Amino acid sequence: MAIHLYDSLERKLKELQPAQPDGVFRFYNCGPTVYAPAHIGNFRTFVINDVLRRLLELEFGKDKVKHVRNLTDVDDRTIGQTQVEKRPLGEITEKWTDLFHADCAALNCLRPHHEPAATGYIKEQVNMIEVLMQKGHAYRAADGSVYFKVSSFADYGRLSRVKERELLVTDATADSDHKNSVSDFALWKAYKPEEDGDVKWPGPRGAAEGRPGWHIECSAMSKALLGDTIDLHTGGEDLEFPHHENEIAQSECCNGVPFSRHWYHSKHLLVDGTTMSKSRGNYYTLGDLTAKGYSAMAVRYALLMGHPRKQLNFTLNSLHAATEALEELALRRQALIQDLKADPSVPPSSRFNGALDALRNDLNVPAALGAIFSQFNQMKPSLGYSREQASADIAALDRVLLVLGVDLPAVLQHLADESAPTEAPTEITALADKRWAAKQAKDFAGADALRKELTAAGWAMLDGKNGYRLERLKG
Ligand code: AMP
Ligand code: ZN
Repeated sequence: MAIHLYDSLERKLKELQPAQPDGVFRFYNCGPTVYAPAHIGNFRTFVINDVLRRLLELEFGKDKVKHVRNLTDVDDRTIGQTQVEKRPLGEITEKWTDLFHADCAALNCLRPHHEPAATGYIKEQVNMIEVLMQKGHAYRAADGSVYFKVSSFADYGRLSRVKERELLVTDATADSDHKNSVSDFALWKAYKPEEDGDVKWPGPRGAAEGRPGWHIECSAMSKALLGDTIDLHTGGEDLEFPHHENEIAQSECCNGVPFSRHWYHSKHLLVDGTTMSKSRGNYYTLGDLTAKGYSAMAVRYALLMGHPRKQLNFTLNSLHAATEALEELALRRQALIQDLKADPSVPPSSRFNGALDALRNDLNVPAALGAIFSQFNQMKPSLGYSREQASADIAALDRVLLVLGVDLPAVLQHLADESAPTEAPTEITALADKRWAAKQAKDFAGADALRKELTAAGWAMLDGKNGYRLERLKG
């Protein structure tokens, strides 16, 4: 089964295929604006895109996917923050970029192949703006800014279905002083000393010095790193309009070819029924949640519990449920391996193909998770379940978990490192103490036999650095 994904532009499921003869799938995902911490709403989008990237790699091969995700390190919000903090732009954006990278790593998100920052591609943006001016799609305003002339692009509004009338309403407050039409948007913003501090670059020919508008960065960086037509462009639902609509207008008017063959927008994470957002301040960061004792892996799992094309309400209860589900999976997988001496490095069986197909069918993550649990529940180490079968089934489980980016050893590590021990009956702790002593004495056969006794009694023993932890096995 091929990967099918909803296309926001054509409004239907479409198969994902690379267009270029080199067979490389070109994928651009709009990245974070680095003026504040990314919150777990942002990470819902990035985790969903990470699953997509991993699925594409499974489908086309690891070296046949090129994934670009930018860093917006110059725009109104980042510059606004320099005013608030009275610090240089670079200091602010570097700090939040570093935290973003640390959070991405903790959430097990793969690094994109390129992570261009807008400030590193000023020349490319200026070049594109000059082409747009030459072709009559852009004009210089009285203050030296440059605007895109929306009426020059007949297809404007194709993605978001905005009508001219709505455009006027949406954009009526934005910088309308220098534009010919309120629906036009800025490609280049003339320098304003009172707002911009030392943030300025030489402008396009005929324009004032200043800085790029927000939308042009993605058009320019996508062109520079992936070419004029790409296979897939993604982001959260709020980016559909105006950001992606404007990207299409800029790129197609400049390059004269379609910009992206496929558009995908995932829906937002909500808190108490409203969108989690930096400006509302109603957000959790990953750090807020790990400080409460939750693992980053549980946060990742919680972000994946809803269908990506439906909004998902975040609660600490859902994070608790995610933690329990993950721990059960991790402990039972470990017990299966230990009891049956299974070797998951063998070729995978077809047991979890249903889960993979759910992902191939419009990234239906909750259906995939459901399929994983229903299959996994049938993998009891009962009579007749051979070591070979267990090995191949666990290999298949590991393959689908790899696509989901769910790292079960990290879950076990977190459990083992957690401070509060689970209460266990004295006969169980006595067995565990004996096993720990055997292991310390390097009597591995003895330790193994005692662990089997513990598993049979319904307990898993997790070895930490300086001690062990007991967890009840469910089911
Ligand atoms: P920003 O840092 O605001 O540029 O946003 C980075 C990414 O996070 C974009 O793809 C946004 O669409 C996405 N995003 C923003 N808020 C949320 C949210 N509450 N839930 C999911 N994604 C979001
Ligand atoms: Zn973008």
